[in-house]
Amino acid sequence: MSVDGAIDLFTESFGVRPQVVASAPGRVNLIGEHIDYNGGQVLPMAIAQRTWVAMGSSGRSTSQAVSASASGMVEFDAGSPQRSGQWWDYLHGTLRELRGVGRPTSVQVAVTSEVPQGAGLSSSAALEVATALAGLVVWNGEAESAREQLATIAHRAETEFVGVACGVMDQTVSAFAREGHALRLWCDSGKREHVPFHRAVLIVDTATPRALRHSRYNERRAECDVALHELQRSDATLRHLAHATPQAVQQATLSDEVRRRAAHVVGETRRVGEFVDLAMRGESVGAVMLASHRSLRDDYECSSPELDWVVEHAMQLDGIEGARMTGAGWGGCAIVVGRESALRELSQSIVPEFASEWRRAPSTWMSTAASGARIDWVPTA
Ligand code: ADP
Ligand code: MG
Repeated sequence: MSVDGAIDLFTESFGVRPQVVASAPGRVNLIGEHIDYNGGQVLPMAIAQRTWVAMGSSGRSTSQAVSASASGMVEFDAGSPQRSGQWWDYLHGTLRELRGVGRPTSVQVAVTSEVPQGAGLSSSAALEVATALAGLVVWNGEAESAREQLATIAHRAETEFVGVACGVMDQTVSAFAREGHALRLWCDSGKREHVPFHRAVLIVDTATPRALRHSRYNERRAECDVALHELQRSDATLRHLAHATPQAVQQATLSDEVRRRAAHVVGETRRVGEFVDLAMRGESVGAVMLASHRSLRDDYECSSPELDWVVEHAMQLDGIEGARMTGAGWGGCAIVVGRESALRELSQSIVPEFASEWRRAPSTWMSTAASGARIDWVPTA
């Protein structure tokens, strides 16, 4: 997959060349899990795997789209509020949200991607952000004047059009990440900081069915709301759960379960700062990653036996610094940090070992911190 792949797919599908190819990356969260909706800090990085969107005006009343990972050509009216429940809702929703900053025309779109879908690496944000960037170029002839709004537009497409309740982290890192840097994001204010991060990360997808994920995620959000409301009884100025102190969480009248959820949130948001300090000093981030994993496993109860197995298995090898689950949990991916040669060995050895333990083949990817959304190609004169 590449820029050329997107141009070829576009040309084969529509018989003309596109006006632009834009791309945006998937992401992993290095630390700060289940923090975005609690108003704390997170530290995602863009991964090497990207989604490319080739686009041009259609010259018709409707828009058309193809994706290398879906069959057939689809047609929709980008102005319509009607969603289909299908993959192009992400495109359609983004184009709809983009109307506020662009001069809309119907478009033709070809999508190619290296980001696995539904693995928790945010293929949805990559598709939305790349679509938004390409859409701006086709509609306005340039993207710079509205670039700062890319993440908000993509996020609104996912929450308001597709209808997925998610925080703004995924779209923000996919839009604004810088190569060789993780993105520290304060989810209460939207403040961003690029943190130099040059280590390789091994991503392991446990390929677990995540049937319970949606309901459990909503359950945790509700538990965090309960904790926040209780804490606000003694501190009316508290706006977000992540701003509470560990002492306040210990002293509040909370059920054991809700207290553990809150303890994770206040501990995890502090670990983001620790991780950044250690990484900036070139020291090991292993202990803080493992502390995050334990907290997610024991207090937030969102890990899975497979994720725990990957973390424990990885930590037995020489040269591995740390590992943790990443993303919402209840399946999905773990990340491992360490010496690059050790990560490469692990990426090979873990596949058959995981398969013999869990009767399922995991996928692995190596990545360093990649760049956020960019325009990859425009025709030369
Ligand atoms: P994640 O974002 O973790 O990969 P989501 O369920 O949020 O998982 O988003 C995955 C969905 O996004 C897919 O089911 C599909 O509808 C859409 N999608 C993402 N990338 C593509 C693509 N390249 N082509 C077509 N649809 C895609
Ligand atoms: Mg997603």
